[in-house]
Order: sequence, then C-alpha cells, then structure tokens
Amino acid sequence: MTYIADPDRYRSMEYRRTGRSGLRLPAVSLGLWHNFGHDRPLDDHRAVVRRAFDLGITHFDLANNYGPPYGSAEENFGRLIASDLGPYRDELIISSKAGYDMWPGPYGVGGSRKYLTASLDQSLRRMGLEYVDIFYSHRFDPETPLEETMGALDAAVRQGKALYVGISSYSPEKTAEAASLLRQMGTPLLIHQPSYSMLNRWIEDGLLDVLGREGVGAITFSPLAQGMLTDRYLNGVPTGSRASENTSLRPDWLTEENLGKIRALNDIAARRGQSLAQMALAWTLRDPRVTSTLIGVSSVRQLEDNVAALDNLSFSAEELAEIDKYATE
Ligand code: NDP
Repeated sequence: MTYIADPDRYRSMEYRRTGRSGLRLPAVSLGLWHNFGHDRPLDDHRAVVRRAFDLGITHFDLANNYGPPYGSAEENFGRLIASDLGPYRDELIISSKAGYDMWPGPYGVGGSRKYLTASLDQSLRRMGLEYVDIFYSHRFDPETPLEETMGALDAAVRQGKALYVGISSYSPEKTAEAASLLRQMGTPLLIHQPSYSMLNRWIEDGLLDVLGREGVGAITFSPLAQGMLTDRYLNGVPTGSRASENTSLRPDWLTEENLGKIRALNDIAARRGQSLAQMALAWTLRDPRVTSTLIGVSSVRQLEDNVAALDNLSFSAEELAEIDKYATE
C-alpha cells in the first residue's frame, strides 16, 4: 500500500541543534547497522522505517558495510526510499560512512581520499540518492595524514555529494585537530559519532569538552550497549537476540557482574516509571552537548518503547548519584 506519512509526525519529537550549526536532529535517531541486511525480510525493514518517520525520527544512519552482506542495508534503505520515503527526501537526514573494511585490496579500507571518494559514490548508487546529508570518516586511520582524510570529506561537500561532514570514534585530540583542519578548509565539522552508554562512559573524559568548545554536535551510538541495557537479557539469552548470534555482542559480556548492574539499573528505572531502555536513552541525552542518541531496533515494539523515553528526560541529583553507583565500566 502507498505510504502516507502521519500528519502528526512532528508533534511530540524533540529536535536539538547540532553543535553550533543550523541543523537540528531528532533526540532519538535510528541506525541500520543490524537488522536491515538481506538476512531479514524487506517488509520488516519497511515497518520499522515507516513507524520511525511517523514518530518524528527524521534521521537514519547508515554506513557502507552495514548488512549482512556489506552494502545490503544501504540497498534495502534505497528500496524503501524508492517505494515509501522518496516524496519526503527533504524532511530526511541520511548519513553514511567509510573507514572500516568494505572491499578487498588497499583502497577498500582506511582513510585515504581514494577509498572515501569511491565508497561515497557506491553508497549513493546503492541508496539511489544524489547526496547524503552527512558523510563520516568512520574511524581515525593512523596511516593516512589527517589532512588527506579531512580533505576527502571537504571535497565530498564541494562536489555536492554530502551536505555536512562528521567523524566517528576519534580521540579528543584527533577530534580537535580534525575540527581545526576542516575549519581552515571552509567545511565545518558538524558532528562526532562516539559510542556512549551507562556501561561505556569514555566520552566524559575529554571528548565532550572538545565538542562543546569546538561547537560540534554529538550523536551517541549503542546507547543501550547493544541491548544489554534493556530487559532483553534479564532472564537468559533469548533465541534471535543479538547476543545469541554471538557477532558484535558476545554472550560472555553478560557476566554476573554486568547483570548485577543491569538489574540494579532496572530497579531504578522502574521507580521512575520507565523501562530500563527508556532510562538508558534518557540518561545519554542528559548532557546538552549530546544532540541525539542513535538506537538500533529489531521490531516496531522496541522502537516505540525507545521513543517513549522522551516522556521523561529529567533526572534528580539523587537519581543520577544512584545511577553512578552502577553505571561503570
Ligand atoms: P543499541 O545500543 O540501541 O542496541 C540495539 C539493540 O538493542 C537492538 O538490536 C535490540 O537487540 C536491542 N533493543 C533495542 N531496543 C530495545 C528495547 N526497547 N527492548 C529490548 N531490547 C531492545 O544500538 P546499536 O548497537 O544497534 O547501534 C545503534 C546504531 O549506532 C547503529 O545502527 C549504527 O547506526 C550506529 N553505530 C555506529 C558505530 C560506529 O562505529 N560509528 C558502531 C555501532 C553502531 P535485538 O536485536 O537482540 O532485539
């Protein structure tokens, strides 16, 4: 059936300014790393993407190698743009990235101008787009001069293939260098995409300060620690869950120590009248330097549960102090 977006889609989502740019992003954004490859039916992808947009999620995050197989999440998202979201292209912020391994040989990985340029062209073809809104260097490559990697991002903007540029998982020091280089090139660094959750707080140790100072936004990935900060694993490892696949979330991370923290955090969430997932997402958004929190979901139910985090984003000092007892690495 033809998709018509919900006319009320902008009613309840919160949109936050990305650093000192003109761009606002939804407080909750949707990533297509897992669950959007050719291993799952397109109808499942469609249901999640439609519901997300109807809930005011305007930002969809991809990368060249999301799948499996590599590239298939972009292909599937491209199909959904063609069939569903095409008329709404100007209401969407679509991102892609290059940095990790994508194709064989020396030009399919890293931070060279050769790789980033060819990869972005491939991503655009797979998604059937003329441009992406944000193009990222997916990781710092110590073997490529930073000038070259940032030069490739700047060129993508000048060629009209990207509107903004971002970096992901760069250290505070390399982030400051990247921001300075890009500023000199005339293409400001829009955003940094780091991992961040109650079980992974590295960005509090310098990165957020750099981002605040440089006027760069932050979009935090894996805010649910890939599902550990939900009720998913409270009673074992369910079939079909990410931990059961033993790929990016290893079941041996579900140690008694971690489960103890997760249960304690779950109790705090219950007292706030929230699910653990909702509290975990609200917690990542408590710092105003965080623009958006970037979730993954395997069902519409999870998506709805997560977006409802926005119903209660405030924390008392006592709640934060209690969370700090368990929110440790
Ligand atoms: P999350 O921490 O949000 O984990 C998502 C997983 O948690 C889901 O697949 C699901 O697991 C489970 N889950 C989500 N909501 C609920 C819920 N309400 N109740 C129970 N379980 C739930 O994020 P991801 O690790 O998926 O990362 C999000 C996005 O961040 C990616 O899609 C990608 O866009 C980006 N990312 C970027 C990286 C980078 O290097 N820049 C690296 C990693 C991610 P299940 O599948 O078991 O149901």
